[in-house]
Amino acid sequence: MNDTHLLSTKQCTYCQQQKPLSEFRKRTGKRSKGQSRRGACRECRKQRQNIDLTLAAGPIPVQPDTIQPPSSAVKERSKQGKPSSTVASSPQSNPNQRIRGLEQRRKHSHSQGAKLSPEDPTQLIPSAKGKILMRGHSDKGRRWHQEIDYELAVTLVREHAAIVVNRRTIRRIYSNKDFRAYILTRDNYTCYFCGSYGDTIDHLLPRAKGGHTTPDNCVCACTLCNQTKADQSVEDFMSR
Ligand SMILES: [Zn+2]
Ligand SMILES: [Zn+2]
Repeated sequence: MNDTHLLSTKQCTYCQQQKPLSEFRKRTGKRSKGQSRRGACRECRKQRQNIDLTLAAGPIPVQPDTIQPPSSAVKERSKQGKPSSTVASSPQSNPNQRIRGLEQRRKHSHSQGAKLSPEDPTQLIPSAKGKILMRGHSDKGRRWHQEIDYELAVTLVREHAAIVVNRRTIRRIYSNKDFRAYILTRDNYTCYFCGSYGDTIDHLLPRAKGGHTTPDNCVCACTLCNQTKADQSVEDFMSR
């Protein structure tokens, strides 16, 4: 390694990779003496900015150690500051450094997209107006979205009509046609009430009483049972 190489590259504080000086932004303001460059390379700065945005957008927990360099890395760096013939001349020739860089990047992406379980409605966080965004698609495949009340969103997820996409968004699983086909197939075209052939969808808790069109609240029914039951609850209808 020669002197010009030492001058024209710099080790990133975050990914530990040796990179050309052009990959580091010049400092501005009080600390700009001597044309010094920032500690993080452009790539790492971009990642750190994304994390800041994520933090500002919502209370997704981020461990502080994903942002600050681990203390072992700091020691490593001060060792490398001394001139030595064993100092690596490129990131590729020092596999340990490269692996550490990859691990940090993986931590970054993990903290940005904290794992959500799609069927757990307790993860949802309503907007200031108490709303959740719902996405879906029509029978013809056209995508739509609308804001719905938080309580409705929780019900739709709990009753398996929608899944959690992120803390502010759910996705309706079925289009109207898909939903009908799903219920009839699930129930084997058999009326839930009388056991004969059925090909209509009935709400166990009627919509008029606050029931929703969800897999948990809908059953296959024959036309007669569907019409007779109408707005009665299951208990009332079955005990006639
Ligand atoms: Zn970097
Ligand atoms: Zn029936």
